[in-house]
Amino acid sequence: MDHLWTPWRYAYVTSADETARTGVAPALRAWPGNLGCIFCNLIASVDYAIANSMEAEKAEAAAGLVVRAKYNFVCLNAFPYTSGHVMAMPYAHLDRLAALPAETAQELMDLAQRTERALERVYHPDGFNFGMNIGQSAGAGVAGHVHLHAMPRWTGDTSFITTVAETRVLPEDLETTWRRLRLAFAELGPA
Ligand SMILES: [Zn+2]
Repeated sequence: MDHLWTPWRYAYVTSADETARTGVAPALRAWPGNLGCIFCNLIASVDYAIANSMEAEKAEAAAGLVVRAKYNFVCLNAFPYTSGHVMAMPYAHLDRLAALPAETAQELMDLAQRTERALERVYHPDGFNFGMNIGQSAGAGVAGHVHLHAMPRWTGDTSFITTVAETRVLPEDLETTWRRLRLAFAELGPA
């Protein structure tokens, strides 16, 4: 997992792209704020767009927001290592798993289970990586806001990490991923 979620990659995208730096998608940049956290910004910019009469579905698609639960949400990784790379996390800006209230932690695990099912349904992978980097020294790209990475894996798909991670052509664009996962979660029914 250290090899998968390392800070150097965040540094690379941070310098390269405004969305990576702020967490705010181009379509949502009417939001005037900055909470200093890409995940808090992501949610706030979606809420702002909806409050200012953007259709919820459109705003959520723009942000790659797949599921909104009561205490947590699931969003796409804007710079995925592989198709289907998503993150589940609390709305609350908390930097430790242990800091999550019990009901938030419980729901996060429920969402992890649903994410596994949704990824299974859409991608039929051979396996999964689910994991958290907690704290900067552990490799967390966004150390202030705990988040659970989830991605489907296939036998033999690891070689790209050490070779062409930055330039790998993803087989699917983010909007397609968003649509497929959104549908898969909906088909799973309510939590
Ligand atoms: Zn945050």
